[in-house]
Amino acid sequence: MSPNHHHQRQLELLIVGAGAAGLAAAIRAWDHGIRSLLVVDRDPYPGGILRQCIHTGFGLEYYKEDLTGPEYLARLRAEADKRRIEVMLETTVTGLQEGPRATLISHRHGVVRVDAQAVVLATGSYERTRENLRIAGSRPAGVFTAGQAQQLINLFGYRIGKRVVVQGTGDIGLIMTRRLQLEGYEVLAVFERLRFVVGLLRNKVQCLDDFEIEPQFEHQIVEIHGASRVAGVTVAQIKGCEDEARPVAGTERLVACDTVVLSAGLLPNRELLGLAQDEPIDANLHSSLDGVFVAGNALEIHDLADGASAQGEYAADRAVDRVRGIPLQRTVESHRPGQFRSRWSVPARDVVTTGVVCIVCPRGCILTDEDIRCRRGAEFLQQERRDKHRVTTTTTWIHMNGTRVRVAARSKLPQPFAVQKQIVRQIKHGGRAAQQFEFTDVGER
Ligand SMILES: Cc1cc2nc3c(=O)[nH]c(=O)nc-3n(C[C@H](O)[C@H](O)[C@H](O)COP(=O)(O)OP(=O)(O)OC[C@H]3O[C@@H](n4cnc5c(N)ncnc54)[C@H](O)[C@@H]3O)c2cc1C
Repeated sequence: MSPNHHHQRQLELLIVGAGAAGLAAAIRAWDHGIRSLLVVDRDPYPGGILRQCIHTGFGLEYYKEDLTGPEYLARLRAEADKRRIEVMLETTVTGLQEGPRATLISHRHGVVRVDAQAVVLATGSYERTRENLRIAGSRPAGVFTAGQAQQLINLFGYRIGKRVVVQGTGDIGLIMTRRLQLEGYEVLAVFERLRFVVGLLRNKVQCLDDFEIEPQFEHQIVEIHGASRVAGVTVAQIKGCEDEARPVAGTERLVACDTVVLSAGLLPNRELLGLAQDEPIDANLHSSLDGVFVAGNALEIHDLADGASAQGEYAADRAVDRVRGIPLQRTVESHRPGQFRSRWSVPARDVVTTGVVCIVCPRGCILTDEDIRCRRGAEFLQQERRDKHRVTTTTTWIHMNGTRVRVAARSKLPQPFAVQKQIVRQIKHGGRAAQQFEFTDVGER
């Protein structure tokens, strides 16, 4: 990551966003021989959302291994570093115009203007907020989106409250429901406005079923109460879909709590396209802004990082064609949503469970004595019946060469479920359990 003091740069390829999509795009473009290449990210550390996703479930397609988000990122970074790909951090792209031409505001270099032959936009997504859910009430402290809560707890090591109500059973909501419990928070209730768990099957099993949490379906928080801090929420039954959804009069009830975590879904972030953001992206992943390609969550929300990376590579292939002057195959066709969807992502709603759900991999096989699909599945079923074991993941501070470093910790082997909370506490205090864990730097100091 070499410093560069020019305030004007000519590039073959500019990649905006150093997450799973942007880094994979950069590696691919480099391997095609592109050297005039720059990746920028507004964060002080590359990785995007991967850094805070400390649970396993990443990389089954891309690396053929079950990795945590930080482990997946470490692989991508190692590949990028090996190629000496320039990644400019703490640098925000604030404008994108015809050309394509970009304006960057960099912590180190000030305003930088970039003329590129092609741009890959891999700027990730936003979380939907209480405004999107139309939750009424006051605006006290203690209301978080699930991703914010994940960042504050996992990356910064904060406590965000004590008694929590969760709205939404998307994957982030499920993952955070488990995380909060392992961290010693009291999860009072999980509400879901639909009739089914929205996230992946393996997350339902590990984050709700394991903790014997039954979500309250067709229920939503309709009002938040509290002056400086959340004091409680009003919840009501909901009827109807999407914009038609309405609380049913007379079903309201009060739940006292000090924290609200909202998992209401993600929205692609391609604001930099300006007015063009609402126009279709074609099958080459090319936007209506000439020379600008879009990939990852910026284009469509991916359940798995593997899909975001694969789409980043595809966008890089097309962007490299453009740099080389190879005409893009003419297409009027819009890109096909879900084309990069992993065969590993099995939504909970698609499955009627009659046996034990195998969580060794995200395929989510339903195991019975008559139907066992693989050796690992057979071992899992046996273990599950004897004594439930789970891979434990958490974060903690450690000291490395005199510096306090935030690390993601992952148990080398599945641990007895019954003692997971205890183990998480021990890891925090540097207890003996640490020997059974692997640690990955998540970039916070
Ligand atoms: C909570 C959660 C749990 C998940 N769990 C799993 C899982 O178990 N397994 C799995 O495989 N996948 C999981 N995923 C999905 C996967 O992590 C994502 O789909 C994938 O990592 C998205 O990558 P991305 O590169 O598209 O976006 P991001 O990771 O969001 O990266 C976008 C980057 O762009 C940068 N950026 C944005 N705007 C600008 C700008 N204007 N200028 C400069 N930089 C900018 C951001 O700082 C960010 O670093 C999960 C996702 C979430 C949110």
